[in-house]
Amino acid sequence: MTGGAGYIGSHTCVALLQAGYEILVVDNLSNSKKESLLRVEAITGKKVPWVQADVRNRGKMRELFSAHPVEGVIHFAGLKAVGESVEKPLRYYDANVAGSMALAEVMQEFGVRLLVFSSSATVYGDPAMLPIREDFPVGATTNPYGRSKLMVEQIYTDLAVSDKAWQIALLRYFNPVGAHGSGLIGEDPSDIPNNLMPYISQVAVGRRERLTVFGNDYPTVDGTGVRDYIHVMDLAEGHVKALAWLQNHTGAHVFNLGTGRGYSVLEVVKAFETASGRPVPYRFSPRRAGDVAAVYADAMKAEQELKWKASRGIEAMCRDAWNWQQQNPMGYPD
Ligand code: NAD
Ligand code: UDP
Repeated sequence: MTGGAGYIGSHTCVALLQAGYEILVVDNLSNSKKESLLRVEAITGKKVPWVQADVRNRGKMRELFSAHPVEGVIHFAGLKAVGESVEKPLRYYDANVAGSMALAEVMQEFGVRLLVFSSSATVYGDPAMLPIREDFPVGATTNPYGRSKLMVEQIYTDLAVSDKAWQIALLRYFNPVGAHGSGLIGEDPSDIPNNLMPYISQVAVGRRERLTVFGNDYPTVDGTGVRDYIHVMDLAEGHVKALAWLQNHTGAHVFNLGTGRGYSVLEVVKAFETASGRPVPYRFSPRRAGDVAAVYADAMKAEQELKWKASRGIEAMCRDAWNWQQQNPMGYPD
């Protein structure tokens, strides 16, 4: 598992270990701390073997593939801050595109051709219709981060065409939020959070004064942006299902991982206030550049093919995000 010490990776470690898989984590810790893996060990009671390495380091990756009987790879490693990607496009294309190419090259050398890739609903841009199905047009991405995800999808799809032995799942995540129910692992933004749920959590816990709501003039239920928030443990379990499904399927296959239902910013604020019993003061500001009004998935393909369906609602997402935030108000210790 590349990027396994990160937010989604650490939760997927728990889901995989509990499903009986053996894992090896590769992470350069550029956006995470090794404490997350110690916490995964505390939750599961199992060891998490891991190596600090960069996926772009082909020599190091070859060493790992030589030393371990790898059967498949879940590839989370990459950079994900949309705003930063506009300022540092080369850094983003290198980490996300060159990193994904280096990984696939080494996998090919070692005859490992089962690969699950973290893509994003951002590849759909501003959808013409809702809910969003996997066959909707892609490409109207508004930033280098989104383009890097689309490029990797295309590269991996070409690879699967060139060599029929590849078994690839391209998972388009909607908005992952929440934390493991234990409160031991969760999202730990290193800076001021860009995303809604961690920002709200930090307001509720008193680390920030108030939330800024970006836009109240969208054509939505209350004028604020609508997104398909998905509990990170549901997402983690989606990876376990995708791995199992790939055992019997060749080619490259796209799946939306979302709940199929959207919530507005103000609906999330209200749900969080209820879950935490704390007020979340907010003020409106103009729309954020690049944002769209509403994004939510048609989640039927994953349900029918992978036999996976998100089961945790917005209450559980807020409760678990709050539990993590309260237990770890400053995130993981160094
Ligand atoms: P994260 O930053 O918490 O995790 C990514 C991990 O990859 C980190 O531990 C980081 O240290 C590691 N990493 C980064 N570059 C690396 C490299 N070159 N070599 C080795 N390790 C490297 O992010 P996350 O939220 O867990 O996201 C995981 C994946 O899912 C990313 O590819 C992200 O783009 C994608 N994704 C995330 C979201 C989201 O909202 N969180 C949505 C859609 C897609
Ligand atoms: N948002 C907001 N204030 C914030 C962060 C986000 O109003 O501080 C809104 C944003 O405009 C969008 C929704 O919350 O409508 C989800 O944003 P996030 O950045 O979490 O995810 P995105 O869908 O943009 O990837």
